[in-house]
Amino acid sequence: MCGIIGYIGKRKVADVLLTGLKNLEYRGYDSCGISFFSNDEIKSIKSAGKIQGLEEKIKNTEIEMGHLGIAHTRWATHGSASEMNAHPHTVSNITLVHNGIIENAELLKGELLEKGYFFQTETDTEVVAALIDSYYQGDLVSAIFKAENRMKGSYALGIIVKGESDKIYAVRKDSPLVIGYGNEEYFIASDISAILEFTKQYVLLEEGEVAILESSGVKVIDSNYQEVVKKVLLADIDAERQSKNSYEHYMLKEIMEEPILLENLIKMFVDSEKMVISNLPDVSKYEEIHIVACGSALYAGEVGKYLLEEKSRIPVFVSAASEYRYRSPIYSHKTLVILISQSGETADTIAALRMAKDRGIPTLAIVNTESSTIAREVDDVIFIKAGVEVAVATTKAYILQVAILSLLSLKAAIAKGIIRDSEMSFLFDEFISLPEKIQEVLHRNYQNIAKEIYNSSTVFFIGRGIDYTMCLEGSLKLKEVSYIHSEAYQAGELKHGSISLIERGTPVIALITSEELKDKSVSNLIEAKSRGAKCIVVVTEKTEIEEVLKIVVEELSSFTQTLLVVPILQLLAYEVAKLRGCEIDQPRNLAKSVTVE
Ligand code: GLU
Repeated sequence: MCGIIGYIGKRKVADVLLTGLKNLEYRGYDSCGISFFSNDEIKSIKSAGKIQGLEEKIKNTEIEMGHLGIAHTRWATHGSASEMNAHPHTVSNITLVHNGIIENAELLKGELLEKGYFFQTETDTEVVAALIDSYYQGDLVSAIFKAENRMKGSYALGIIVKGESDKIYAVRKDSPLVIGYGNEEYFIASDISAILEFTKQYVLLEEGEVAILESSGVKVIDSNYQEVVKKVLLADIDAERQSKNSYEHYMLKEIMEEPILLENLIKMFVDSEKMVISNLPDVSKYEEIHIVACGSALYAGEVGKYLLEEKSRIPVFVSAASEYRYRSPIYSHKTLVILISQSGETADTIAALRMAKDRGIPTLAIVNTESSTIAREVDDVIFIKAGVEVAVATTKAYILQVAILSLLSLKAAIAKGIIRDSEMSFLFDEFISLPEKIQEVLHRNYQNIAKEIYNSSTVFFIGRGIDYTMCLEGSLKLKEVSYIHSEAYQAGELKHGSISLIERGTPVIALITSEELKDKSVSNLIEAKSRGAKCIVVVTEKTEIEEVLKIVVEELSSFTQTLLVVPILQLLAYEVAKLRGCEIDQPRNLAKSVTVE
C-alpha cells in the first residue's frame, strides 16, 4: 500500500525517484509526487493518477534539481485522490511524505488551527507536517520526537526541512521503512524492492528511532539522543526477478512461477526418501489452532482449517484479523495462533499477533518478506520464499501459503499416527510430482471458458468441503481483477437464498473434486442449471456430468488438490480480466500490502 522513496547522492534525483516509484507501483496507489531542493528552496511536483503523468510534468519543468529528494505514491485514506491531496505536503518549514494513517488527526488539527495553522488539503498527512512544524525550533529530531508523542496511528515519514538542504529525516511506527546504503549515496524506501537497481544493502529502521541521511553518511538516533549502531543487511532478491520477462502481465508471470517455486519449497521441507517433513514445526502438540489473516491469506487459512481438522484432527478457528483483534478470543493453555501475511506488514494481522503475544500464546507466522514486522516479532516463522510478488492480486504467494499449511497438516497427521504406512509413500510421491502436474494445467487454454463469463454481471462459485475453500479464492481472484461481481457459496447453501439471483445465462462454476461429496455437488449444480445457469465445472476424471463446460483435473489427495485447482481459477480470472480490458496488475482501489487497518 502506497510507497516512499528518498534519495541523496550524485545521480540525477528525478531519475532515481521515478525508478523507485515505478518499482513501488505494484503496491497500488492513486496519485504521486516528489519534492526536492532547488537552490535551497523546496519545490514539489504532484500528479493525480499514474506515475507517467508525474514523469511528463518533471520532464517539462525548467526547475533545477539538487542532489536530494523525496517521493511518494499515495493510497488515499483521508480525502479524495486529487493532486491537491497528493504527497509531499508542505507546512511552513516542513515538507514530508507519509505512509499510514493518523487516527487522531481531527483532534490535532483542531489544536493546530487554534495555534494559527491553516490547511489546504483533506489529508491527515498535512496535519503531521503542521504538528512537526509547531515543535520545530531549529532541531528537527526533537520536533519529530515531540510530534510522535502526540500522534496515534501508523506512519512512515520521509521529511525534508527548509534550510537543511543536505538532509533527509526518516521515522516510522507500524509502517515499514528501510534505509539503503549505496556508494556515497543513501536512500529511504518503504520496501527494499524499490531500490534494488541501486543497492542491496540496507538497514531496518526501528520504532522510536530517527534516521538522518546526509551525503556524508547516515546517522540513526534513539529517543535518548544516543546514536544507534545498525546492522547492515543484504537483500536476498535481485532486480532481475522483478521484471516481467516476456509475459504481458506480472499476474501471468507470477502464476507461471508457481511450479518452480513449489518445487523449491517441497525440496526445502520434504524428504521423500526418509518420508519425513523436516524444518517445519510439529503442530500436533496443540489442542487447538487459531488462524488469523486477511484476504487471500484468510482463504489459504480456510484450506488449512479443512486439512488440519479433517486430516490431523486438530480443531481450528479461522478469523479475519480485522475482527479477531477486536474480539476477546478464548485461548486454552494449548492454543497456537498462526498468522498468515504475504508482506508481513498487514496492519490488522500485526495487531492480532501482538494481542496473542500479550496473552502469552505461542505464535507462528507464514510470511514472504523476511525483514517484515511480523517476521521479526513472531515466536516462530516459516518463509514461503515466493520472491517479490508484483501483481496486486496475489497468486503465487497464496499457493505457497496453502502448501505450507498442507505440509504442517501432513506432518501433524503423521506425528499423531493418523496416516497409515501404506498411505505415506503415496502422499510423499504426490507432493514430489505436483509441480509437474501444475505445469501441465497451466499450459492449457482457458480462453474459451473465459469467453463464456466475461460479459456477465454476476458469477457464482459453488463447492462443498475443501472444494468450497477453493471457491473462496477463485471468486475473490475473479472479482479483484475483472470487476465482475462474484460470490462463493457452499453448494448446499445456494438454495437457501441466493439461488433467487440465478437468471438465464448466469455462470455457475462448480468445483467437484471431492470424491465423497461429488454426488451432492452435482445435484446442486443441476438445481442451478434447471434455473437457467450456464454451468462450468472443474471435475476429476471420475465424475460424469453431461452438457456442461468441463475442466478435467487429476484426482489427488486433499493435501494437494487445492494446489492443482486454484492455479486454474487464477488463470481463468486473468483471462476474463484480459477480455474485459482491465488493469490486471493494479486493479482499481486495491493495494498490495494493506498497512492501514
Ligand atoms: N493517510 C495519508 C493520506 O490519506 C497517507 C496515505 C498513504 O499511506 O498513502 O494521504
